Amino acid sequence: MTITSRVDDEPTNSGSDPTTSGSDPAPTGPTHPCVRCGRPVPIGTAMCEYCNPLGLADPAPTQAHGTIFLAIGVGVVVLALAGRFLLSGIGPFQASVTSVVVATDAAGAPNGLSVTLQVTNQGSRTGASTCQVRDTAAVDSDHSAIFVSPEIPPGQTVTFTRTTSLLGLQPTTLQVDCMQP
Ligand SMILES: [Zn+2]
Repeated sequence: MTITSRVDDEPTNSGSDPTTSGSDPAPTGPTHPCVRCGRPVPIGTAMCEYCNPLGLADPAPTQAHGTIFLAIGVGVVVLALAGRFLLSGIGPFQASVTSVVVATDAAGAPNGLSVTLQVTNQGSRTGASTCQVRDTAAVDSDHSAIFVSPEIPPGQTVTFTRTTSLLGLQPTTLQVDCMQP
C-alpha cells in the first residue's frame, strides 16, 4: 500500500527535492530530541510516538527537572542524617600528652619525637579520634602533627605512642587537641 502509493507518487515528484518524498511523517517546524530515545519530536512534545504511543499527557520538562532536583535534595538530606547518626555519640575526647622522648633511627641518630598520648572517649560509641599535637612554644601553626588514635570504646582511655619528625628534635612542651572524626 505504501509502496504502491510511493511508486505512484514517483513521477509527479520527479525533479523536486528527493528529501521531501519520503512517506515518513516527519514533524514539520522546529524539533527537539525525544526525552527518552532522541528521535526528533515537535517542540512542545516531550516524547515521540514510539515512546509515548498512547499519547499520554507529556510531563512538562521543568516538572521533570523539578522532580529530579527534589529527589537529589531528599537524598542529600537522608545521607546527612545517616552520617550524623553514624557519628553521633563518638567523642568528645579528652586528651593529654603523657611523655615526649627523642626518637632515634637504627643508627642511634635522633630523627624525631616519640609522643605518647592518653585519650579518653567521653562519648557513648566506639570511635577513633584525630589528635593535633602542637608545640606551644612555636608561634606558627606549622609546628603541629596529626595523630589518629586507635578505636576507643565509650568511656575507655587508651595510651598510644606516635613518632613524628614534624615537631623538631628537642623534647618540648606539647599540647594536644583530639577532635571527633
Ligand atoms: Zn522516543
